[in-house]
Amino acid sequence: MKEVILVRFGEIFLKGKNYSFFENTLFKNLKRRLNKFNLKLERISGRFLVSDFDILDKEDIISTIMTVFGLVSLSVAYEVTTSLENIKEACSKISIGTKSFKIETKRADKTFPLQSVELSKLLGQVVLDNNIGSMVDVHNPEKTIYVDIRQNGKTYVFCDKIPCLGGMPVSTSGKGMLLLSGGIDSPVAGFMMAKRGLSIDAIHFHSYPYTSEQAKQKVIDLAHIIKKYTGNINLYVIPFTKIQEEIHKLCDQEYMVTLVRRFMMDIAERVAIKTGSSCIITGENLGQVASQTVEGMTATNLMSKTLPIFRPLIAFDKIEISSLSEKIGTYDVSILPYEDCCSVFLPKNPVTHPKLDKIIKNESLLDRETLINDAINNVEVIEIKM
Ligand code: ATP
Ligand code: MG
Repeated sequence: MKEVILVRFGEIFLKGKNYSFFENTLFKNLKRRLNKFNLKLERISGRFLVSDFDILDKEDIISTIMTVFGLVSLSVAYEVTTSLENIKEACSKISIGTKSFKIETKRADKTFPLQSVELSKLLGQVVLDNNIGSMVDVHNPEKTIYVDIRQNGKTYVFCDKIPCLGGMPVSTSGKGMLLLSGGIDSPVAGFMMAKRGLSIDAIHFHSYPYTSEQAKQKVIDLAHIIKKYTGNINLYVIPFTKIQEEIHKLCDQEYMVTLVRRFMMDIAERVAIKTGSSCIITGENLGQVASQTVEGMTATNLMSKTLPIFRPLIAFDKIEISSLSEKIGTYDVSILPYEDCCSVFLPKNPVTHPKLDKIIKNESLLDRETLINDAINNVEVIEIKM
């Protein structure tokens, strides 16, 4: 008898012609994540099976599996070669200390001589005999013991189904360019879109010396945290100082934020197209700050001429976003106090309902193409690798 980990994936994407594409990608993603461990990973119909690992690595392996999008649940199970004696032995072992329980048997291997109900009864008796005071409770058992007789000559006996992240396997939906600031929202936005099957690249606008090296490092650190879920990330750091200085020097101050955001979006789209992303992701949230009004977002939308902009946090409360950020592990880094370039030259009264004609008039005062090309030509590419 040995301990193995059974890993289950969703059924939604498993319908239709794309089944093998999704399953293969998911298997590859999981394999890549588990690469650092010494273990065996295989497919058994409709599941993955992890075995032959060092027992000291078990908890680490489980937490790693729990970072892979597309997986629904996992169970630590005893694997035995199918025989009544072996199954009884596994049930005895797994039921030690059981009070109320039920047994659920699944018999995919129809050559096994006992039917599911018969076997459940017989195993129930084994558990009762081994645990004084235990009882069967089919409605509200403290423990459900699952017995899964498979066609590969093996039976798996387990109790708990630990929920995993769900979602779609990363990269089955293509790649998205995440506007990554050092704040709480944008790393969460990246996490959420990766959950829907996007792989992620990130772009960060940096206004040295107005924003510090630490502010940039913070963004790198955040990317390292979310790569745990998203896989490798190319982080494009764009020097943004000149653009902000020019806007500050030449344009209406209350339009500063709107204009800055439009430059960001324009550059993000150009870099996204050049590097194979098919959408843009931001951590914007309706009404959170002056620039995140419907009109503010309309003004930035117009800059992405061909790619859609996804804002997965649009309707979330800050509390909900913060608690997600704690869950995925970015919160503590996000709240470090280094400034973002959005707060450089921040006007006292930023416009909340920007007018398109005023925006265009302001932008006509700038040499936009030269500013944008200079910024993109001086990009720093940082590879955030698993
Ligand atoms: P966050 O917590 O993500 O920083 P925020 O509430 O501080 O969000 P803003 O600073 O207005 O909001 O930014 C809104 C969105 O614009 C961010 O979620 C991010 O996607 C993008 N953004 C802001 N600053 C930058 C930056 N310096 N580089 C790249 N993207 C940025
Ligand atoms: Mg921010």
